[in-house]
Amino acid sequence: MKVTVLGSQGAIPKVGLFSTSLLLNVCNSNILIDCCEGVQHQLRKNKIKFSKIEIILISHAHGDHYFGLIGLISTLSLLKRDKKLTVFCPLSVFKIIQAHLKYSKMSLSYQLDLKVLNNDSKINIFNNIHFSIDAFPLKHSIYTNGFLIREKEKKRKLILKKALDKNINKIYFNKLTKRENVINDKGVEINYLDVTKEGDRPKSFAYCSDTAYFEELIKNIQGVDLLYCETTFLKKDKDKASLTLHSTTIDAARLAKKGKVKQLLIGHFSSRYDDYNDFISEVVTIFKNVVISEEGKKIEV
Ligand SMILES: [Zn+2]
Ligand SMILES: [Zn+2]
Repeated sequence: MKVTVLGSQGAIPKVGLFSTSLLLNVCNSNILIDCCEGVQHQLRKNKIKFSKIEIILISHAHGDHYFGLIGLISTLSLLKRDKKLTVFCPLSVFKIIQAHLKYSKMSLSYQLDLKVLNNDSKINIFNNIHFSIDAFPLKHSIYTNGFLIREKEKKRKLILKKALDKNINKIYFNKLTKRENVINDKGVEINYLDVTKEGDRPKSFAYCSDTAYFEELIKNIQGVDLLYCETTFLKKDKDKASLTLHSTTIDAARLAKKGKVKQLLIGHFSSRYDDYNDFISEVVTIFKNVVISEEGKKIEV
């Protein structure tokens, strides 16, 4: 799993900085999480092929999270995409995209599979053999979802010497890593556990933007390897955070600590601040393993 930060800011971008968007690569699939204005430039700059994006997740209908979506949908058609694109979004964003397609009389070169999110508790929205995606409600001024992406159990690793010693034909090696017993050259059944070892641990990533802190959120991000949580405000502006239903540094740090996550990524900074070291200084008083969103930063999970 790898996260690339495409935008680090809240609603108002600054020169060279963009509103919130992340690109998650999981098991060789690219998932775009929120789609800020200028996202196409950021994808180009980070050498991410548009054609490789398979899924887009839109958290809510505030412009800093989806203003880049219509542009990207249009460009993909101009590039003659023929592969399906799946977009999960709230009903409001669904209607805006439909209206644009209608009034621009645009017929797309590919199938745009728009899936409306209207869950009021955590639900599974996507599954394949490699990973799953869950959506869960956040606490914001309009209907908003967070997302949890989890890798599935990985293949076991073959212990080659043991497999050869047991006279197993190499055509069965793949089966063994998929937890299947096989028959060796002498007609004896070999248990996969005898010639393989545990594969890499499945990784997980949770995304929470935008949201105020609330206790029920903890169970939805429990134990993830990387948590993205917005920190629009420093703690001195906690009244503004309460008013606008955003998080402060202290909220995000508390969520990471109580959720026992392994690493915290913070972003969605208000344009009123210039020194981002202040964000780190405040978070580490509660949760140590924190990294800050910066355009182009890549985080291996
Ligand atoms: Zn926002
Ligand atoms: Zn918002």
